[in-house]
Amino acid sequence: MTLTVTPHREAVGLKDGLLHVDGRWRPGREGRTWTHHHPATGEAVGSFAVAEAADVDEAVRAASKAFEAGPWPRTKAGQRIAVLLRYAALLREHAEELKRLQALDNGVPLSFGGIYATSVGIAADIFEHHAGWIDKIGGQTLPAHQGGDHLAMTFREPIGVVAAILPWNAPFVLFAQKLAPALAAGCTVVLKPSEYATFCVVRMVELLAEAGLPEGVVNLVTGPGDPTGEALITHPLVDKISFTGSRAVGQRIVRASADTMKRVSLELGGKSPAIVFPDAPNIGLAGMTAMGMVTVGLSGQACVAHTRALVHRDVYEEFLGAAQMMAGAVTFGDPFDPAVLASPLINERQLGRVLGFIERGQQQGARLVTGGERMDGDYGAGNFVTPTIFAEVDNSMEIAREEVFGPVLTVLPFTEEDEAVRIANDTDYGLGAGIYTADARRAFRLARRLRAGTIGINGFQLEPHVPFGGFKQSGLGREGGRSAFEDYTELKTVLMPLTDEMM
Ligand code: NAD
Repeated sequence: MTLTVTPHREAVGLKDGLLHVDGRWRPGREGRTWTHHHPATGEAVGSFAVAEAADVDEAVRAASKAFEAGPWPRTKAGQRIAVLLRYAALLREHAEELKRLQALDNGVPLSFGGIYATSVGIAADIFEHHAGWIDKIGGQTLPAHQGGDHLAMTFREPIGVVAAILPWNAPFVLFAQKLAPALAAGCTVVLKPSEYATFCVVRMVELLAEAGLPEGVVNLVTGPGDPTGEALITHPLVDKISFTGSRAVGQRIVRASADTMKRVSLELGGKSPAIVFPDAPNIGLAGMTAMGMVTVGLSGQACVAHTRALVHRDVYEEFLGAAQMMAGAVTFGDPFDPAVLASPLINERQLGRVLGFIERGQQQGARLVTGGERMDGDYGAGNFVTPTIFAEVDNSMEIAREEVFGPVLTVLPFTEEDEAVRIANDTDYGLGAGIYTADARRAFRLARRLRAGTIGINGFQLEPHVPFGGFKQSGLGREGGRSAFEDYTELKTVLMPLTDEMM
């Protein structure tokens, strides 16, 4: 049976997307639209407005006006908390609808849309978490260091207009990781979702007004990197860019931000290792988890997936067997079918990229254990690739160094702990890492030595209150927790002599 998602479009009531500028929904000034083709079927799902430079300019000016003259940055803590908590409740109420919209956007199956780490539920929890900071973040009163009697105080103030730019793969959680701390701090926002996950974000923005957020505080510009994203990152009135996406666009943002010295937070890609020792509590589970991370749900299109498994030679074959079993258990198809576990690749460009990596992996001498093919038949109109495992991988090979962003696990053998650490750290990236061992001292020893932002010991569970981000070329700054909230503020020092005595 040929796959189709069109009936779900009618059921969820999907409408074409508009821009949201200064509290009004409207098309782009030039009337251009983007038609979204579904990654599982190739069908045209719907279209949305493309914001040109003039639209982006209006949106940034609206955010700037709302920051300079609107109520939000000056709203009392209690009121701001109430808005964020109301919004969290609205997200929970609309969780099922949002999950279905996402399935129409990026093809992420409903089965995975409910997994906590990428769900609407964690997005709501993130809003509640940041609502909790609003009346707790303050400055300090410092003692005079020398001479005179004077007060030295610090205040934390909202940073200004934030350009928030999202990728397509985890729109709920990343929308929340940017908007919750920005709004909690009193900033105003121009939001640009990915052109491959727009419809669910449009709905999330509609719900902000229902929660009582004043007009102009969050503005939505939709469209691709060029022209929409470019106009946003180069706009002089943007004070901070908060970006999640690829390293290449992250590098472009750093360059573009230099002229007006914008603050920049970057959450980029990874090539994260999982190190498996012979004493791991369950080698089979480690193999299934590693393969699950690169197949179940996003088909490996996840920044923090542990795509390089470093496995001790004594348990190498056992690990491979378990990973292979997991590869065989993954199901594909209609994302609305609850039995379907994994998504297609997001677009044809990504499909070609992943198949290219697989071909060159074989040419460079890695052993293809399973997978590596584009799926045909009923799946032929979609971008489906079978779960792929490469063994006997050397860390110098392209498949061990580049972020493939597809269902590809590379398995590298090691013998000594030091060797494993050296290979694990031999990468340009530093987003995550996994350690599988029953030896707690070894686990913590390695956790200290690995140069990565988030380390999982015998497992990995993301939560709303923990900092998340990368070392090296995986990014700048952290999302989640107190440091993320502080990143949306500027620190101001106020000095006041209390006597006429000269300092
Ligand atoms: P991408 O970089 O292609 O696009 C991300 C966003 O940037 C999109 O909204 C896109 O339209 C926009 N964009 C593209 N060019 C732009 C430009 N010149 N100026 C401004 N905006 C521009 O990434 P993607 O394919 O959407 O997402 C996949 C990447 O995101 C992977 O590298 C993945 O590792 C990374 N990612 C990182 C995290 C994290 O938390 N570290 C989380 C999810 C995804």
